Amino acid sequence: MPTMTQTRQIFESLSPSDDSWIGSFPVMNEQDVAEVVDRARIAAHWWSDQSWRERRRRLMDFKAILATRSVELAELVHAENGKPVADATLEILLSIEHIDWAARHARRVLKERRVLPGLLTTNQDARVEYRPYGVVGVIGPWNYPVFTPIGSIAYALAAGNAVVFKPSEFTTGIGQWLVAALGEVVPEQPVCQLVTGFGATGAALCTSGVDKVSFTGSTATGKRVMAACAESLTPVLLECGGKDAAIVDQTANLKKAAEVIAFGAYSNAGQTCVGAERVYVHESVYPEFIDLLAGKVRRIRAGSGDAASYGPMTMPAQTEVVQAHLADLSVHGGRVVVGSEASIGDRFISPLLFAEVPENAAAVREETFGPTLVVNPVRDMEQAIALTNANQYGLAASVFAGSTGACQAIARRLEVGMVSMNSWVMYAGVAGLPWGGVGQSGFGRIHGAEGLRQMARTRSTVRERFGIPLKLVSFERHEVTSPAIRRIYQTLHGNRKWRR
Ligand code: NDP
Repeated sequence: MPTMTQTRQIFESLSPSDDSWIGSFPVMNEQDVAEVVDRARIAAHWWSDQSWRERRRRLMDFKAILATRSVELAELVHAENGKPVADATLEILLSIEHIDWAARHARRVLKERRVLPGLLTTNQDARVEYRPYGVVGVIGPWNYPVFTPIGSIAYALAAGNAVVFKPSEFTTGIGQWLVAALGEVVPEQPVCQLVTGFGATGAALCTSGVDKVSFTGSTATGKRVMAACAESLTPVLLECGGKDAAIVDQTANLKKAAEVIAFGAYSNAGQTCVGAERVYVHESVYPEFIDLLAGKVRRIRAGSGDAASYGPMTMPAQTEVVQAHLADLSVHGGRVVVGSEASIGDRFISPLLFAEVPENAAAVREETFGPTLVVNPVRDMEQAIALTNANQYGLAASVFAGSTGACQAIARRLEVGMVSMNSWVMYAGVAGLPWGGVGQSGFGRIHGAEGLRQMARTRSTVRERFGIPLKLVSFERHEVTSPAIRRIYQTLHGNRKWRR
């Protein structure tokens, strides 16, 4: 993570691993952002006038750039965000899936469709249209600097919108790369533009007159975004923080669960919105599971070389949160199974594994966003479900059990937006599945058909196909019309037996 140095109106993005220079970018103010949005509005008209086929072609070309230059992009993600190249590559591959899906499915999902009229409106041709908003402001975080914004950008473009993208100040170089690649495939108009700077630039984007804001980031910032957008009733989509739980039943394959949960908790240094931060394990298999998991966690290495399992903390403030959650154990209780205070370095944090931590401790209640994991025993799955649902966040969860039925019985009762059964995060790779949370994790969905519809205004139209003798909406309505219709409706809808 970038230690940021600000010189007048320019800031620098530096590698979180070694402070090497990634790029210098302007700190854009309200006026700068307004000018970009003005240009985007012109581009939006041009882009929405293109056919579905043409937009699909351009997005497919964009996808091809990511695929052919994935090594270059992965190296940049490794340098600016700090994650291992292999993880950066996986993030890029997932993004390719989403660009492909949005491009291929936009027409099917968003094309005008006919709706059956009702009895009173049989003579109407009824239709639903999905019109692009115009300009969509996309605000992104630093932890998945390709995958996360692409979930909004590709879907917004596929729906016919222009995009103004504000990447995190910590991963602006990656944002610039993505926008430049889009510029290569759509040279005619700036359909996706970059605005750079700190939080104030993001705030300026919210009040710039964009037609929708798609925000991904912390819950605290999400609330500020929503408040700013409230002034102009600009619609918002909020993908915010999480405190995801993994549930391990006594019937689960414990070895597999330990392996999957270790990756879910510690990959990307735990800086994953859907990262596993709490595990609830059936007490009958708890000792065995803890042993298996601790064995795996002890083999995980933080660092920036090829042998590293994960990289540095991208944002320094996150290290303080990890420190605070570790210190809080001495107040509330809990056991440190792997690691110690010495695990927390300036840039890198070695994995920390906590056990039997009370539910009111910060490490259980608050998003840590670091390489830590809490494992607690539960007497049964009822308690695991209750504790999972007791948190303010509701982004995602994982369930590990021996049968499909057992998995589903638990999954159905979790108050979260996404569930992985006997795996972690796999919903992210299925582009047709909507992504998003409930509660303090936000609302609205990216990805899939719902992600496309979120980038479009729904419009309903009716057109009279033929006249009918019964005038319904007219002062010249005949006096028998109303009683006649009432009788028809009593006959059709008044019989309670038919309802069953
Ligand atoms: P932040 O909330 O700090 O920042 C997110 C983005 O908002 C950044 O681009 C930031 O700019 C910008 N921003 C900051 N202040 C404002 C403001 N007042 N108005 C508008 N924009 C603003 O989040 P992080 O970047 O630290 O990301 C980590 C968080 O994101 C975690 O909580 C994580 O759970 C969540 N997240 C959620 C995901 C989901 O899908 N639900 C996916 C990925 C992450 P700048 O960086 O320049 O300050």
